[in-house]
Amino acid sequence: MGECIFCRIAKGELPCYKLYEDDNTMALLDIFPVHPGHALVMPKKHTTDIFDTDEETARQMIAAAKKIAPAVMKATKADGINIGMNNREAAGQEVFHAHLHVIPRYKDDGLKAWHKNLFKDEKQKQEVHEAVKRELAA
Ligand code: AMP
Ligand code: ZN
Repeated sequence: MGECIFCRIAKGELPCYKLYEDDNTMALLDIFPVHPGHALVMPKKHTTDIFDTDEETARQMIAAAKKIAPAVMKATKADGINIGMNNREAAGQEVFHAHLHVIPRYKDDGLKAWHKNLFKDEKQKQEVHEAVKRELAA
């Protein structure tokens, strides 16, 4: 298997519509945008997803997204912006180099990011609340 596609973009080996770069991060247009202006923000160094991305790199990525978001918002005359990250295949990740999506959104554009559900019952709510807190404390 060849090298990661986003690493190759970061090194300038593959073309992209670059929007921004600094020492540690790069932002580019997504080639299959939800809406035009949909941008991707990634660390230049390879990490796979949120789980193996160190805190400093995560900070750098969100700081870059904070710069990109208002620029995308104004340039595309969007009404809002979604910032999201897919982690692992089950969550829709297709490129296994960590990145944030910065997605312009419009009133009544009809997109639904995800369905909302009710908890099955009060017990389920309490159990998951406890389980996540337990992991955080571990
Ligand atoms: P994800 O599903 O979070 O892994 O998102 C990967 C995103 O990368 C998708 O939205 C693709 O459209 C986008 N993408 C894949 N290849 C390229 C590329 N060469 N240049 C820009 N965007 C790309
Ligand atoms: Zn990579």
